[in-house]
Amino acid sequence: MAKIRTRFAPSPTGKMHMGNLRSALYEYLVAKHEGGDFILRIEDTDRGRFVEGATDIIYRTLAGVGLIHDEGPDKDGGCGPYVQSERVKSGLYMKYALELVEKGEAYYCFCDKERLESLTTTIGEESVTHYDKHCLHLSKEEIDANLKAGKPFVIRQNIPTSGTTSFSDENYGVITVENSELDDQILIKSDGFPTYNFANVVDDHLMGITHVVRGNEYLSSTPKYTLLYKAFGWEEPAYIHLPLITNEDHKKLSKRSGQTVTLEGFIEQGFVPEALLNYVALLGWNSPDNREILSLEEITKEFDYHRISKSPAVFDNVKLRWMNGEYLKAMDEDKYLKLAVPYVEKTLGTGFDSKAVALLVKTRIETLCDIPEMIDFFAALPDYDAEMYIHKKMKTTFENSLESLTDLLPRLKALPDLSLESLQGCVAAYVEEKQIKNGVALWPLRTAVSGKQTTPGGAYEIIEILGAEESFKRIEKGIEKLKAAIAQQ
Ligand code: GLU
Repeated sequence: MAKIRTRFAPSPTGKMHMGNLRSALYEYLVAKHEGGDFILRIEDTDRGRFVEGATDIIYRTLAGVGLIHDEGPDKDGGCGPYVQSERVKSGLYMKYALELVEKGEAYYCFCDKERLESLTTTIGEESVTHYDKHCLHLSKEEIDANLKAGKPFVIRQNIPTSGTTSFSDENYGVITVENSELDDQILIKSDGFPTYNFANVVDDHLMGITHVVRGNEYLSSTPKYTLLYKAFGWEEPAYIHLPLITNEDHKKLSKRSGQTVTLEGFIEQGFVPEALLNYVALLGWNSPDNREILSLEEITKEFDYHRISKSPAVFDNVKLRWMNGEYLKAMDEDKYLKLAVPYVEKTLGTGFDSKAVALLVKTRIETLCDIPEMIDFFAALPDYDAEMYIHKKMKTTFENSLESLTDLLPRLKALPDLSLESLQGCVAAYVEEKQIKNGVALWPLRTAVSGKQTTPGGAYEIIEILGAEESFKRIEKGIEKLKAAIAQQ
């Protein structure tokens, strides 16, 4: 079998939508599972949507998630240029469009806006123009005269008015449509640029793409592409259309619903690229043994496109958060610290051992953005309620909490240092001496130094990070709070 060649063909319109990331990943996987090539092509023919710098975002994003392309604008593989606007300059699309005009498979259309509007029907929010082939019937003389006069034109595909067109999709099977339902779509626009509908066919052919992998919103246009391949006499690639990604309400994943939809957006929310990539891999595919945490290498090995699902994939934020947490837990310490320390310093400044704080929460967070809320008590003791000292299971009361704190404070002050070992030794000796449960000493201590019911780490870790002065101040404050609470009883 010929080497598989797939392409990721993003339009540089700004940020990377998760749907695009899934397409890029599946395109990569279809090729790489079989040792094929993954090509990057920039589809920038829609000048109205072009965003300066967006191409760089694409490079950065692909590199950031490890989807390394074999050919692209920055890596010539002999099929360039890989940027469509550069291909336009060479006159390539026009040349192929005129070849179709020559064959009677396409034609010049000079219809103006008013005429086209008269052919448009609006149903609800959607307006559909079904072109009536008016210009197909212009004589050669009329066309030449119009061209000579510089009249604006487009080139349209001449779709048969009867019969059917079928194509086969690897995921959705054979799809057949009535030709009469297809519109004579524009191939070359009045600005001389090709439409996506034309350029994707010409480029996929010239770049030797064997498998076209893309979202199933393109299924309905594919018969028109099939007709173009036929008109040129080119072999059609295999199609693998991917299921829709929906939100939890089963509506198309879109930013209109207020949901984060871009890779950049998720990174800002404290997700890590590896987890996001792993998660999108599961939007339409699962591993044969149902393992969910998989590296790109493992997915590449196991990925078989015949297992891609037809049914919509639901984007589940809870699952994504869980998965991200698993990645953070398993992450190499240095790498984690590089990511987490800035969150710590943004919350606490640089007065604390930021690395120690970051490591304290490593196994407890799901996203990096969980860090501030979890650690803010280090910066300032929250105004907590004395009731927090009462814990049924720990068997603590106002009275025994007060006793523990009052007894422990001078002992802690007498320690040579506040290392975990020293703190542990001090409290262990105290509970032994008093014959009390650990909790009767530890619960009040942690409450006093954190002012919180749940904290990352226990009293010792918190005291070690807070340091002597602040810890003792907080314990004293706890003692005062308990005395006041007892007095009020
Ligand atoms: N430029 C198209 C897009 O960004 C590519 C679709 C395709 O993969 O053919 O949606």
